[in-house]
Amino acid sequence: MTDMTRTTDKPASAAAIEALTAAGGGGPEALLGALVQRYGNRVTLASSLGAEDQVLTHMLLAIEPRARIFVLDTGRLHQETYDLMARTMSRYGMRYEVLFPDATAVQEMVSGEGPNLFYASVAGRKRCCEVRKVEPLGRALAGADAWITGLRRAQSPERGDTPLVEWDAAHAAVKANPLAEWSDEQVWDYLRAHGVPCNVLHDRGFLSIGCAPCTRAVEPGEPARAGRWWWEQGTAKECGLHVDGRPKERADGDAGAGRRAPAERRR
Ligand code: SF4
Repeated sequence: MTDMTRTTDKPASAAAIEALTAAGGGGPEALLGALVQRYGNRVTLASSLGAEDQVLTHMLLAIEPRARIFVLDTGRLHQETYDLMARTMSRYGMRYEVLFPDATAVQEMVSGEGPNLFYASVAGRKRCCEVRKVEPLGRALAGADAWITGLRRAQSPERGDTPLVEWDAAHAAVKANPLAEWSDEQVWDYLRAHGVPCNVLHDRGFLSIGCAPCTRAVEPGEPARAGRWWWEQGTAKECGLHVDGRPKERADGDAGAGRRAPAERRR
Protein backbone atom coordinates (compact mmCIF):
# COMPACT_ATOMS: atom_id res chain seq x y z
CA MET A 1 0.00 0.00 0.00
CA THR A 2 1.18 3.46 -0.79
CA ASP A 3 0.72 6.57 1.32
CA MET A 4 -2.71 6.99 2.94
CA THR A 5 -3.14 10.71 2.30
CA ARG A 6 -6.24 11.09 0.17
CA THR A 7 -5.94 13.26 -2.92
CA THR A 8 -8.86 15.69 -2.91
CA ASP A 9 -8.25 18.35 -5.51
CA LYS A 10 -7.19 18.66 -9.09
CA PRO A 11 -3.97 20.62 -8.55
CA ALA A 12 -2.78 17.98 -6.12
CA SER A 13 -3.50 15.35 -8.75
CA ALA A 14 -2.01 17.10 -11.77
CA ALA A 15 1.35 15.43 -11.39
CA ALA A 16 -0.31 12.08 -10.86
CA ILE A 17 -2.44 12.49 -13.98
CA GLU A 18 0.63 13.39 -15.99
CA ALA A 19 2.60 10.42 -14.69
CA LEU A 20 -0.29 8.01 -15.18
CA THR A 21 -0.94 9.27 -18.70
CA ALA A 22 2.70 8.64 -19.50
CA ALA A 23 2.37 5.13 -18.07
CA GLY A 24 -0.72 4.59 -20.20
CA GLY A 25 1.43 5.09 -23.27
CA GLY A 26 2.76 1.63 -22.53
CA GLY A 27 -0.69 0.10 -22.85
CA PRO A 28 -3.63 -0.69 -20.57
CA GLU A 29 -1.74 -3.11 -18.35
CA ALA A 30 1.01 -0.57 -17.76
CA LEU A 31 -1.57 2.01 -16.72
CA LEU A 32 -3.38 -0.45 -14.45
CA GLY A 33 -0.08 -1.42 -12.85
CA ALA A 34 0.78 2.23 -12.24
CA LEU A 35 -2.65 2.84 -10.68
CA VAL A 36 -2.29 -0.11 -8.31
CA GLN A 37 1.21 0.91 -7.37
CA ARG A 38 0.21 4.52 -6.70
CA TYR A 39 -3.17 4.05 -5.03
CA GLY A 40 -3.27 0.52 -3.62
CA ASN A 41 -6.80 -0.22 -2.39
CA ARG A 42 -7.89 3.35 -3.02
CA VAL A 43 -8.34 2.62 -6.71
CA THR A 44 -11.40 0.69 -7.83
CA LEU A 45 -12.71 -0.65 -11.14
CA ALA A 46 -16.30 0.12 -12.12
CA SER A 47 -17.69 -2.96 -13.84
CA SER A 48 -21.00 -3.26 -15.61
CA LEU A 49 -19.91 -6.71 -16.81
CA GLY A 50 -19.51 -5.24 -20.29
CA ALA A 51 -16.94 -6.45 -22.79
CA GLU A 52 -14.47 -3.72 -21.87
CA ASP A 53 -15.01 -4.30 -18.16
CA GLN A 54 -14.28 -7.99 -18.62
CA VAL A 55 -11.01 -7.12 -20.37
CA LEU A 56 -10.06 -4.81 -17.51
CA THR A 57 -11.12 -7.32 -14.86
CA HIS A 58 -8.88 -9.96 -16.43
CA MET A 59 -5.94 -7.57 -16.66
CA LEU A 60 -6.36 -6.04 -13.22
CA LEU A 61 -6.71 -9.31 -11.33
CA ALA A 62 -3.55 -10.58 -13.02
CA ILE A 63 -1.74 -7.57 -11.56
CA GLU A 64 -3.46 -7.56 -8.14
CA PRO A 65 -5.67 -10.57 -7.27
CA ARG A 66 -7.30 -8.58 -4.44
CA ALA A 67 -8.06 -5.56 -6.58
CA ARG A 68 -11.32 -3.76 -5.84
CA ILE A 69 -14.03 -4.12 -8.46
CA PHE A 70 -17.54 -2.83 -7.93
CA VAL A 71 -20.88 -3.37 -9.63
CA LEU A 72 -23.92 -1.12 -9.43
CA ASP A 73 -26.82 -3.53 -9.14
CA THR A 74 -29.76 -1.40 -10.21
CA GLY A 75 -32.22 -4.18 -9.45
CA ARG A 76 -33.23 -4.20 -13.12
CA LEU A 77 -30.31 -6.04 -14.73
CA HIS A 78 -30.70 -8.95 -17.13
CA GLN A 79 -30.52 -12.45 -15.66
CA GLU A 80 -27.72 -13.06 -18.19
CA THR A 81 -25.71 -10.27 -16.56
CA TYR A 82 -26.12 -11.85 -13.13
CA ASP A 83 -25.08 -15.17 -14.66
CA LEU A 84 -21.93 -13.55 -16.03
CA MET A 85 -21.23 -12.02 -12.64
CA ALA A 86 -21.37 -15.48 -11.08
CA ARG A 87 -19.22 -17.01 -13.82
CA THR A 88 -16.61 -14.28 -13.45
CA MET A 89 -16.47 -14.75 -9.68
CA SER A 90 -15.97 -18.46 -10.19
CA ARG A 91 -13.35 -18.05 -12.91
CA TYR A 92 -11.18 -15.63 -10.95
CA GLY A 93 -12.01 -16.63 -7.39
CA MET A 94 -12.96 -13.03 -6.64
CA ARG A 95 -15.81 -11.10 -5.09
CA TYR A 96 -17.40 -7.88 -6.30
CA GLU A 97 -18.34 -4.96 -4.14
CA VAL A 98 -22.04 -4.68 -5.00
CA LEU A 99 -23.86 -1.39 -4.54
CA PHE A 100 -27.65 -1.30 -4.42
CA PRO A 101 -29.89 1.76 -4.71
CA ASP A 102 -31.26 3.32 -1.56
CA ALA A 103 -34.34 1.25 -0.70
CA THR A 104 -36.40 4.19 0.51
CA ALA A 105 -35.65 6.19 -2.62
CA VAL A 106 -36.69 3.27 -4.83
CA GLN A 107 -39.87 2.71 -2.82
CA GLU A 108 -40.88 6.35 -3.09
CA MET A 109 -40.08 6.48 -6.80
CA VAL A 110 -41.91 3.30 -7.76
CA SER A 111 -44.84 4.02 -5.44
CA GLY A 112 -45.23 7.47 -6.91
CA GLU A 113 -44.47 6.94 -10.59
CA GLY A 114 -44.78 3.21 -11.16
CA PRO A 115 -42.20 0.60 -12.08
CA ASN A 116 -41.78 1.77 -15.69
CA LEU A 117 -41.45 5.52 -15.22
CA PHE A 118 -38.54 5.58 -17.67
CA TYR A 119 -40.90 4.96 -20.59
CA ALA A 120 -43.19 7.84 -19.63
CA SER A 121 -40.75 10.74 -19.90
CA VAL A 122 -37.09 11.66 -20.17
CA ALA A 123 -37.38 13.20 -16.72
CA GLY A 124 -38.66 9.90 -15.37
CA ARG A 125 -35.85 8.00 -17.01
CA LYS A 126 -33.28 10.38 -15.60
CA ARG A 127 -34.81 10.13 -12.14
CA CYS A 128 -34.62 6.34 -12.31
CA CYS A 129 -30.97 6.47 -13.42
CA GLU A 130 -30.21 8.95 -10.66
CA VAL A 131 -31.76 6.72 -7.99
CA ARG A 132 -30.51 3.38 -9.30
CA LYS A 133 -27.08 4.37 -10.65
CA VAL A 134 -25.76 7.82 -9.94
CA GLU A 135 -26.36 7.95 -6.21
CA PRO A 136 -24.91 4.46 -5.64
CA LEU A 137 -21.87 5.42 -7.74
CA GLY A 138 -21.18 8.22 -5.31
CA ARG A 139 -21.16 5.73 -2.47
CA ALA A 140 -18.97 3.34 -4.44
CA LEU A 141 -16.37 6.04 -4.92
CA ALA A 142 -16.47 7.46 -1.40
CA GLY A 143 -12.94 7.17 -0.07
CA ALA A 144 -11.47 6.28 -3.45
CA ASP A 145 -8.66 8.35 -4.89
CA ALA A 146 -9.04 6.89 -8.36
CA TRP A 147 -11.43 4.82 -10.41
CA ILE A 148 -11.14 2.84 -13.61
CA THR A 149 -13.70 2.68 -16.40
CA GLY A 150 -14.09 0.87 -19.71
CA LEU A 151 -14.84 4.02 -21.71
CA ARG A 152 -13.47 4.00 -25.25
CA ARG A 153 -13.33 6.69 -27.89
CA ALA A 154 -14.75 4.35 -30.51
CA GLN A 155 -17.95 3.71 -28.55
CA SER A 156 -19.69 6.88 -29.65
CA PRO A 157 -18.96 10.35 -31.05
CA GLU A 158 -19.57 11.78 -27.60
CA ARG A 159 -16.71 9.69 -26.26
CA GLY A 160 -14.36 10.57 -29.11
CA ASP A 161 -12.13 12.68 -26.87
CA THR A 162 -11.94 10.31 -23.91
CA PRO A 163 -8.48 10.71 -22.34
CA LEU A 164 -6.46 7.91 -20.80
CA VAL A 165 -6.50 9.72 -17.45
CA GLU A 166 -8.53 12.70 -16.30
CA TRP A 167 -9.75 14.51 -13.22
CA ASP A 168 -13.28 13.65 -12.13
CA ALA A 169 -14.39 16.76 -10.30
CA ALA A 170 -17.79 15.31 -9.42
CA HIS A 171 -16.15 12.60 -7.34
CA ALA A 172 -12.90 14.37 -6.48
CA ALA A 173 -10.92 11.49 -7.88
CA VAL A 174 -8.64 10.55 -10.75
CA LYS A 175 -10.52 8.71 -13.47
CA ALA A 176 -8.60 6.31 -15.68
CA ASN A 177 -9.85 4.93 -18.99
CA PRO A 178 -7.14 2.41 -19.93
CA LEU A 179 -8.93 1.21 -23.07
CA ALA A 180 -9.67 4.71 -24.38
CA GLU A 181 -7.57 4.13 -27.48
CA TRP A 182 -8.68 0.58 -28.17
CA SER A 183 -10.74 -0.43 -31.19
CA ASP A 184 -13.67 -2.84 -31.18
CA GLU A 185 -11.38 -5.46 -32.71
CA GLN A 186 -8.80 -5.12 -29.96
CA VAL A 187 -11.45 -5.70 -27.30
CA TRP A 188 -12.84 -8.81 -28.90
CA ASP A 189 -9.45 -10.17 -29.95
CA TYR A 190 -8.29 -9.86 -26.34
CA LEU A 191 -11.40 -11.55 -24.93
CA ARG A 192 -11.04 -14.44 -27.36
CA ALA A 193 -7.29 -14.82 -26.89
CA HIS A 194 -7.62 -15.03 -23.11
CA GLY A 195 -10.89 -16.96 -22.91
CA VAL A 196 -12.46 -14.23 -20.81
CA PRO A 197 -16.11 -14.88 -19.88
CA CYS A 198 -18.59 -12.59 -21.66
CA ASN A 199 -22.30 -11.84 -21.54
CA VAL A 200 -24.21 -14.26 -23.75
CA LEU A 201 -26.43 -11.34 -24.75
CA HIS A 202 -23.62 -10.09 -26.99
CA ASP A 203 -24.32 -13.08 -29.23
CA ARG A 204 -27.98 -12.07 -29.46
CA GLY A 205 -27.37 -8.60 -30.86
CA PHE A 206 -26.99 -6.70 -27.61
CA LEU A 207 -23.90 -4.54 -28.03
CA SER A 208 -24.33 -2.09 -25.17
CA ILE A 209 -26.03 -3.85 -22.27
CA GLY A 210 -27.69 -1.89 -19.53
CA CYS A 211 -30.82 -2.52 -17.50
CA ALA A 212 -33.19 -5.08 -18.98
CA PRO A 213 -36.14 -2.75 -19.63
CA CYS A 214 -33.89 -0.12 -21.23
CA THR A 215 -31.77 -2.25 -23.55
CA ARG A 216 -32.63 -3.96 -26.81
CA ALA A 217 -30.66 -5.80 -29.47
CA VAL A 218 -29.48 -3.77 -32.45
CA GLU A 219 -29.40 -4.63 -36.13
CA PRO A 220 -26.07 -5.15 -37.92
CA GLY A 221 -24.58 -1.74 -38.67
CA GLU A 222 -26.63 0.09 -36.06
CA PRO A 223 -24.65 2.05 -33.47
CA ALA A 224 -24.23 0.11 -30.25
CA ARG A 225 -26.01 2.70 -28.19
CA ALA A 226 -29.03 2.67 -30.48
CA GLY A 227 -30.16 -0.17 -28.25
CA ARG A 228 -30.21 2.03 -25.16
CA TRP A 229 -33.35 4.01 -24.29
CA TRP A 230 -34.34 3.49 -27.92
CA TRP A 231 -37.73 5.12 -27.45
CA GLU A 232 -36.12 8.50 -26.72
CA GLN A 233 -35.42 10.83 -29.61
CA GLY A 234 -32.73 13.48 -29.63
CA THR A 235 -31.27 12.75 -26.21
CA ALA A 236 -27.74 11.68 -25.40
CA LYS A 237 -27.63 7.95 -24.69
CA GLU A 238 -26.15 8.58 -21.31
CA CYS A 239 -27.30 7.94 -17.75
CA GLY A 240 -25.28 10.43 -15.72
CA LEU A 241 -22.38 8.32 -14.50
CA HIS A 242 -19.75 10.08 -16.58
CA VAL A 243 -20.18 13.79 -16.28
CA ASP A 244 -16.83 15.49 -16.59
CA GLY A 245 -15.86 17.18 -19.77
CA ARG A 246 -18.02 15.10 -22.06
CA PRO A 247 -21.67 14.15 -22.29
CA LYS A 248 -22.88 11.74 -19.74
CA GLU A 249 -23.33 8.18 -19.20
CA ARG A 250 -22.41 4.13 -18.11
CA ALA A 251 -20.81 1.18 -15.19
CA ASP A 252 -24.47 0.81 -14.48
CA GLY A 253 -25.59 -2.07 -16.01
CA ASP A 254 -24.09 -0.27 -18.90
CA ALA A 255 -22.09 -2.90 -20.56
CA GLY A 256 -20.52 -1.16 -23.46
CA ALA A 257 -19.25 -2.77 -26.55
CA GLY A 258 -18.32 -1.85 -30.04
CA ARG A 259 -20.53 -0.49 -32.74
CA ARG A 260 -20.73 -3.57 -34.90
CA ALA A 261 -22.91 -6.62 -34.70
CA PRO A 262 -21.63 -9.71 -32.85
CA ALA A 263 -21.27 -11.74 -36.02
CA GLU A 264 -18.89 -9.12 -37.39
CA ARG A 265 -16.97 -8.80 -34.16
CA ARG A 266 -16.47 -12.52 -33.69
CA ARG A 267 -14.87 -13.16 -37.03
S1 SF4 B 1 -31.25 2.21 -17.36
FE1 SF4 B 1 -33.51 2.19 -17.15
S2 SF4 B 1 -34.02 0.81 -15.40
FE2 SF4 B 1 -31.80 1.27 -15.36
S3 SF4 B 1 -31.60 2.94 -13.93
FE3 SF4 B 1 -31.75 3.90 -15.98
S4 SF4 B 1 -33.94 4.25 -16.39
FE4 SF4 B 1 -33.78 2.88 -14.57
